[in-house]
Amino acid sequence: MNAEIKELELVISHLDTCYELGEDCLHPITGDKVSDKEYDYLRSELQKICPSSHIFNSVTSSKATSTAKKVIHNPPMTSISKAIGSIEKRNETLKSFLKDAIENLQYSPNEIESKFVQSFKRDGVAIALYYENGKLVRAGLRPRDGINGEDVTENVQYVEGVASQLWEYNKEGDRVKFLPINCCIRGEIQCEKSVFKEVCENWQNPIYGLDSKPKNARNYAAGSIRQFKNPKVTFSRNLSFTAYSILSWSSKDKDFNVAPFKTEIERSQYSNSILKIPFVQVRPFRYKDLETLEKISSTLNYEVDGAVISVNNLEDAEQLGVHGDSSTGNPKAKIAWKFQEEKFEVTVKEIIWSPGRTKITPVLQFDGVLIDGTTVSQCTAHSLGFIDGTSEASFGVPITRGSVIEIIKSGEIIPKVVKVVQTSRNQLVIPHSCPCCKQRLEIKIGETGKDLVCSNQKCGERSTAGIVHYLSTIGVKGIGESSIKDLIDLDLIQDQSDLYELNLQDLISAGFSPRESRLFLARLFFCDNPTDKTDEQLEDFIEKAESKLIDVPAAHFFASLGIPGCGKTAGQILINEFKTFRAVFAATEDDLKEIKGIGEASAESIISFFCENNEMIDKLLEFVNPVSRKIGKLTGKTFVFTGSFTEGKQYWENKISEIGGNISSSISSKTDYLVVGDSAGSKLEKAQKMKISSISVQDLQNML
Ligand SMILES: [Zn+2]
Repeated sequence: MNAEIKELELVISHLDTCYELGEDCLHPITGDKVSDKEYDYLRSELQKICPSSHIFNSVTSSKATSTAKKVIHNPPMTSISKAIGSIEKRNETLKSFLKDAIENLQYSPNEIESKFVQSFKRDGVAIALYYENGKLVRAGLRPRDGINGEDVTENVQYVEGVASQLWEYNKEGDRVKFLPINCCIRGEIQCEKSVFKEVCENWQNPIYGLDSKPKNARNYAAGSIRQFKNPKVTFSRNLSFTAYSILSWSSKDKDFNVAPFKTEIERSQYSNSILKIPFVQVRPFRYKDLETLEKISSTLNYEVDGAVISVNNLEDAEQLGVHGDSSTGNPKAKIAWKFQEEKFEVTVKEIIWSPGRTKITPVLQFDGVLIDGTTVSQCTAHSLGFIDGTSEASFGVPITRGSVIEIIKSGEIIPKVVKVVQTSRNQLVIPHSCPCCKQRLEIKIGETGKDLVCSNQKCGERSTAGIVHYLSTIGVKGIGESSIKDLIDLDLIQDQSDLYELNLQDLISAGFSPRESRLFLARLFFCDNPTDKTDEQLEDFIEKAESKLIDVPAAHFFASLGIPGCGKTAGQILINEFKTFRAVFAATEDDLKEIKGIGEASAESIISFFCENNEMIDKLLEFVNPVSRKIGKLTGKTFVFTGSFTEGKQYWENKISEIGGNISSSISSKTDYLVVGDSAGSKLEKAQKMKISSISVQDLQNML
C-alpha cells in the first residue's frame, strides 16, 4: 500500500510540473501521454487510499518555477471537485455531494431543485480580474497552485467581454452610474468555435502571427493570452471572456458596499444585464437535465467540458467551507459534472450493410476500443450518402476499408463518427443484393441524400421493423420486436394487416405460452392493464374487440405506415385538408403537391408507397378505423405532455385526439393545458411562467 501511495504521489507531482512548464504531460514510468481525465483519475485514486497525502495540501505539487511576472491570487483560485467516470460513477459522486450539502445546510431533501443551480463548465483559460474603485488594476491566469498566476493585465484589455471599468448600464445599453467597487471577477478566456474555425482556415495570414496551425481552441486561447513580449498580439487573436464568479465585493462608498446579489442566479443576471459583463447562464438544478446538457454541449459555439452544480445561496455556500486545507482546498458548495469527451482513432476493417425498415444502413467495423468500460467495435455510417461522402452530413470523402476515422461516445454508449482522419485507397463496394432477402437493391435520393433500399416490399428485416413501427405509432404497448420476428420467420404474418387474423392457436404453435398468446392479442386491441386480468377476462375482451373496428386517430394511422419522411405532422396536415384517411388514400400526386407543408418529394413518396402497398392498406382498413379529429368536447384545445405516464403518453394522446383535441410537443402561447406526469420536466416551469394550466392525469380523465 505504501509503495502504491508513493508511486501515485510521484506521478502526480511529475505531471503537475509538466503542466506548469507547458510541456506534454507524459507518464514518468510508461512514457504515455496522460489525458486530463486520467490525471483526475490518479488524484481520485490517491484520495481514496491516502486522503491525508501531502499532494492535497495544495492544488498543485509542481516543482517548477516560472520567470514571468506574477499576480498573487487572494483568495486562491482553487479548482472544484469533479464527478468523473461512467454515468453510474458520476451519479454516485453527485449524490454524495448533494447529500453532504443538504445535511450540512439542513435543507430538506425535496428542496434540491430550488436550492441548487447548474451551469455549463466552460473549457477555456481561467483568469481572475481585480478591480479597485471600479477600475481594472490586475489580471492573472490560474496556476496549478492557485496562488501565483501569470500576470496578463496588459493582454486582457484586448479580450472581448473584459471591462476596464465597472459601470451600471440601462436597458438601452447606456452607462448610467459609475461603480466605485473593489472586487474580483473570475471567468474563462476562450476562442469561440466559429472564430477558431476561421483562424484555422487562414492561420497563415500574418495578422494572426502564428507559426503553425493551432491544435485546438483551448491551446490557441492559452497561447494567445500568454503573449508577454508583445501583448498587442492578443488583440488579433479574437478571444472572449465569460465570467463565472464575482467575489470580494466592497466599497469605501456606503451606498455601494453591499453586493446587489445573494444567489448564483442573481449574480449571473446582475452581471449580464446591469454590468453588461458576459456571465455564464445559471439555472435551477434539474437532475435529469444533465444528460441533455451533455447532448447539446457539442452544438454550442464555445467549448464546454461539463456542468457545474452549485449551492445557489452564496452565503450558504460560504458557510459550507472547503475540503482539506482551509485556504487552498476545493469549495464544498460546488461540483463539476464532467462530460465524456474522449475521442478514439480507429481503422475501418470491414463495412457491413444492415437492412432496416426504410433503408440498408452501412455499419463500420473496427478493432474494439474500450470506451467507458464498454468495448466498442462498430459504429453506424448512417446512409449511403454519408459513407460515399456525397450527403450534406458526410465529411465530403468516402469512408472505405482502411480509412482512419475518429469516433466519440455520444449519449450512453452509441459511438459516432466525428472525423475522417485519413482516407484509404480501397474502393467503396456497394452491395447489389439485399443481405436479408437477396433481392435487388436500389439507390434512392431522399431528403438527406443517397439511400440504399431493398426493392422487395416483403423483405424480412423491412417487414419486422415496419410492423414494430406500426404498432408503436398507433400506441400498442408490450409487443416486442422479437415476437414479430418469430411470427415472420414462421410465415404467420407478412405485414401489419396479418396481425389481426392471428388467433390463439397460431400464437401457441409459434411457441408462445397460452397466457402470452392471450396477452399478445389483448394488447393488440388496446386492452388496459392486461396483466392484471384473468385468462377468462382476457378472452372475453379479445372476443368483443375482434367483433368491431379498432379506432385509431387518422393522422397516427397515416404515420404508422412508415412512408419515408412522412410522420404525424404530415399526417395531421393531410387529414385536416382531406378530412378522412380514405380521401388521402384516394388522392392523386397533383392533389398532394398542392398541400402547403407537404411538398413534391413527400407527395411522390406517398403515392409510390400507396401504389406498392395498395392491398396491404385495403386489408388493414378491414380491421382498423382511422378516425378523423372529431368535433368533440376538446375541439380547439391544445395539450402538451411532460413527464412519464403509467399508461404511456400515446394512450392519452389518442384519447384527446378522439374527441377533437390537439397535441403539441412544446409549450407556447397556443397551449391550453400541460398534462403533468411523474418527474415532470422544464415544460412545467415554462407553463407556470406563461400561466398555462397544469393538470394531472386524473384531471384529464375527468375532461374526457
Ligand atoms: Zn431485402
